[in-house]
Amino acid sequence: MIALEAYNLKKTYRLNKQIVEAVKNVSLNIASGEVVAFLGPNGAGKTTSIKMMAGLIKPDFGWTKISGINPHIKPSALEKLGAVLEGNRNVYWRLTPQENLEYFGVLKGLTYYQARKSGIALLERFGLQHKRRTAVQQLSRGMQQKLAFAVALVHQPQVLLLDEPTLGLDVEATEDVKVLVREIAASGCAILLTTHQLDIAEQLADRIAIIHKGEIITQLPTDELIRQFSGKAYKIEVETVLDRVRITKLEQIGVEIRENKIIYVDQPELIYQVFNIIEPLELKVVEKAEADLTQIFLKLVKQGV
Ligand code: ATP
Repeated sequence: MIALEAYNLKKTYRLNKQIVEAVKNVSLNIASGEVVAFLGPNGAGKTTSIKMMAGLIKPDFGWTKISGINPHIKPSALEKLGAVLEGNRNVYWRLTPQENLEYFGVLKGLTYYQARKSGIALLERFGLQHKRRTAVQQLSRGMQQKLAFAVALVHQPQVLLLDEPTLGLDVEATEDVKVLVREIAASGCAILLTTHQLDIAEQLADRIAIIHKGEIITQLPTDELIRQFSGKAYKIEVETVLDRVRITKLEQIGVEIRENKIIYVDQPELIYQVFNIIEPLELKVVEKAEADLTQIFLKLVKQGV
């Protein structure tokens, strides 16, 4: 089922006498249980697009639907939406976790009793029950982030917007958040993730959409995107550094050598010549050289200049 739809969104701002086309053409669908990373350089139009999808600003053209309902026509659609904003802006720091959950639960349409019950269940699920009466400002950054997720989930939304969910977290808290995101998706929630941490996007997203200058320039399943950009290159690494004679021979056949021990073979037909040259050195790695999302992102954004 399609949980979040955006069709042909456009938004232009007028700033003094200047016209800024923040979003020119954005269409995006996310199915229940799917994680889509929405990536783009600074000023590409991500925040403006997401604000339109979340019903916060009205598009000049196009429409957006949450669980089939347009939030600009029926604001009750927002009861199906949860958001974790960067810097835990979706929780009140002076309130306790329990108070936050009850407050936001009621704000999202639950009765006080439902909000309290759902809040207790979420505090237990995220291992925060022992901190339920501690002011949020006294919690660790990792705990605050887990609470931000709990608050976003208190009314069981069908769509979750995540803005930089792992920014500023230590390694352990980052891992916890990654597990959480996978669990939430597995429970059927559609997730739209924005982040500048491309390794996190690569690990979490089923699909990647890249926006540049207000337009989506690529939208593909993550593994398909990486496969397309990886080509047919191989990476061969030897245990010890290569000697001068072998390096010269390898250079003569035109392969790339890095750190005197890693060989990149762009043309697969050269691979057996490379093995002949490096024989009998011990091999450490022989693998298809996969492009990572950072390389792909930079390449696409440069092309789209
Ligand atoms: P970042 O990654 O830096 O947060 P972004 O991709 O979220 O960037 P937006 O915040 O959507 O980008 O901004 C897109 C463009 O629209 C930018 O040129 C920005 O300066 C402009 N813009 C955004 N909001 C407004 C506004 N309220 N008034 C005028 N211009 C705006």
